[in-house]
Amino acid sequence: MGATAKGSLFHKEKTAVRLPSFEQVKDDRVLYAHASRLLHQESNPGNARPLVQRHGNKELWLNPPPIPLTTPEMDGVYDLPYARAPHPAYGEAKIAAWEMIRFSVNIMRGCFGGCSFCSITEHEGRIIQNRSEGSILRELETIRDKTRGFTGIVSDLGGPTANMYRLACKDPKTESLCRRPSCVYPDVCKNLNTDHTPLIELYRKARALPGIKKVHIASGLRYDLAVRNPAYVKELATHHVGGYLKIAPEHTEAGPLSKMMKPGIGTYDAFKTMFDKFAREAGKELYLIPYFIAAHPGTTDEDMMNLALWLKKNGYRADQVQTFLPSPMSLSAAMYHSGRNPLRPVRRSGSEEVFSAKGLTQRRLHKAFLRYHDAENWPILREALKRMGRADLIGPGKHHLIPNWQPAGTGLAGGEGVRAGRKHGTQKFYTQHTTQSRRPGLSPRKKRPAAG
Ligand code: SF4
Repeated sequence: MGATAKGSLFHKEKTAVRLPSFEQVKDDRVLYAHASRLLHQESNPGNARPLVQRHGNKELWLNPPPIPLTTPEMDGVYDLPYARAPHPAYGEAKIAAWEMIRFSVNIMRGCFGGCSFCSITEHEGRIIQNRSEGSILRELETIRDKTRGFTGIVSDLGGPTANMYRLACKDPKTESLCRRPSCVYPDVCKNLNTDHTPLIELYRKARALPGIKKVHIASGLRYDLAVRNPAYVKELATHHVGGYLKIAPEHTEAGPLSKMMKPGIGTYDAFKTMFDKFAREAGKELYLIPYFIAAHPGTTDEDMMNLALWLKKNGYRADQVQTFLPSPMSLSAAMYHSGRNPLRPVRRSGSEEVFSAKGLTQRRLHKAFLRYHDAENWPILREALKRMGRADLIGPGKHHLIPNWQPAGTGLAGGEGVRAGRKHGTQKFYTQHTTQSRRPGLSPRKKRPAAG
């Protein structure tokens, strides 16, 4: 079943796409990757067809994604009389998730980025659904007037991505026919409206409200879109960053970036140059916090080594890092499980294979490269660098990645992740900049020996 002829209209009212049965994908990784590709191809509500999959003697019918809500509909949802408080059943319990959102406002839903490790498109759709300015400003006033403990600081004005407010395909007809999984990969599509003016105006109105002292932007920023809008980057650096701005290049190397559907690190450099310039002009000392993923499908040991060299060269030390975990429904999870690349047609033979670090030893090594400055990791890094023929990176100089000496009492357990008694439950990612002493608000850290 299914209309697949190139260039033809997808008769979405008349056809459905049959996925391989549950029993087939359960036992056959190639078919699993193929099914994942089919599912993600049917993600545009303008042309997606229903999916059908056989489970035993039953058929599962999956409707296409819903038509995005209009702005009045979004306002209708957000203007409902929410209590803006945890359920009374929690009593006085401290709820971390509530602390994070109580003074923040969601201005939109959805994301057209298509990052392959993320499931936002499956949750919220690939077409941005925007609230009106009026609705957002009303919510800010409600927080100001009714939320206990509000001191005038808004912690975030954002959404799945900070800067996709009011961005969309220039032509609704083109949008409804489009089959691309991302509007920004491999490049920003020429049909995409990337004008950040409505967002700038929203920020200005938000911070002009009586009783609002500061509006932070804490949602992740899509920097390949931001660099096209210098006025936005200026607004951000001048008024909305309280010292640190989180952004997520996720990697520096082309191999993993191509599997993640993320832009090249050159775009990050361009954004940093722009951001630093506007921060200087505003007389502020601001820093970028780049996030990276270790061991994403498509990442080799050499890729991680190159990322570590980039981190060192740019003066970053990641305190805590993220090692890839497959998330349900994501394309990256399909790569990890199947060893195939569902971003391209999947065939039994001849289609692209994707390597994933799976064993504990190699996953630990990839993470260790991200934390090259931690002496606990130096023994396994030394061993790996020698095996990779890169012993030239071991030594006492600034150009070396790690030293050839080991501080007493460290590096005995095979990497930091296996240290007895180490707690990982509440870790957060902070990146230290070696040009700066310590992240404000954190207690002074015990001085540890570190590379470089
Ligand atoms: S044509 Fe371009 S901007 Fe429009 S929906 Fe497709 S990828 Fe996005």
